[in-house]
Amino acid sequence: MDQWEQVVVGLDNGGTANNATVLDSDGRFLVEKMVETPSRVREGPAVAVQALAESFEQILQVTGTPREAVLGIGLDTPGPASAAGVISFRGAVNFSDPEWRGFDIRSAVETRIGLPVVYNNDANAASLYAHHAHFGADAPHRSSVSLIVGTGLGGGVVEAGQVVRGAAGMAGELGHIRIPMEGLLAEGQPVPACNCGLSGDGESFASLSGIIGNLLPYWLTRYPDHELARAESIRQAAKLVRGFGEAGDPMAREIFRQQAIAIGRLFTVAANFTDPDIYFVGGGVVEAAPEFRDWFLDTVRENTDLRTEQASVETFAIVPDLDMAGARGAAIAASDALRGGRLSMAT
Ligand SMILES: [Zn+2]
Repeated sequence: MDQWEQVVVGLDNGGTANNATVLDSDGRFLVEKMVETPSRVREGPAVAVQALAESFEQILQVTGTPREAVLGIGLDTPGPASAAGVISFRGAVNFSDPEWRGFDIRSAVETRIGLPVVYNNDANAASLYAHHAHFGADAPHRSSVSLIVGTGLGGGVVEAGQVVRGAAGMAGELGHIRIPMEGLLAEGQPVPACNCGLSGDGESFASLSGIIGNLLPYWLTRYPDHELARAESIRQAAKLVRGFGEAGDPMAREIFRQQAIAIGRLFTVAANFTDPDIYFVGGGVVEAAPEFRDWFLDTVRENTDLRTEQASVETFAIVPDLDMAGARGAAIAASDALRGGRLSMAT
């Protein structure tokens, strides 16, 4: 029984699927792959909470873990949500059903499954996993900042091995910091607008939404004969930009160069704010062909202004295993919180 007494389950709730994992008391994950079930979030909170309970039951089965061995659950969802796991009253992309507004998903899952649930948003969970995977036993003594390029631009700040959440749970939202436009905008390019209502913030450049709403429409005016100008829709075209970038297409490289500069400028803020040991970049843009990935990361680094003292100690790296990082980070956070101590991930 001893080996089972302290496992923690991680549940990563996404737009289409839940992914689950189990973390034991030695800091080892009991599954090396995705264990997915449908998330059914579009059918509203009641159905989605039931789907999370099913994901929980399934991961116990897959790993042969008895329920009485589970100390608690780490849960993460896409934002925006409060630090306590209440979905934004303004609504959220993944939670379009009006019943989601202000819904306390953390408490609902806790009640449904009958175990303590520790909540993080998905970017914070992935950031925490990246931090622990990189530093192992040294994680509690290190700090990191992560930016994850997806539909939006997720951010996470980890200090002394723990996610900085903030009073309202909105710490680490680096994507919505406004950045200087000098040397970033091209000739005649309008200042990009973000879904959050700001213009010229990090996400308005470095996200799929930024490509669809801002970067691609502008760059197609500069490359009117580009193949992507003939795509079915701008949304369709936006999803193809990375493939063009990997193949060295000049227009696509302009788009990703602007994204990398935007990320570098956000990291410059971080350098002056928490001065982290490491800067992580995550998302499809760095899960690409090695030449493209390295070029992107180098461009981020070149655009991160570090002081001499910082430049000699900093590291830039990619968020590893991004598809599993949410569930794993959520489990690490729950393990830390429920054990009242800090777990070191086995490396
Ligand atoms: Zn924004």
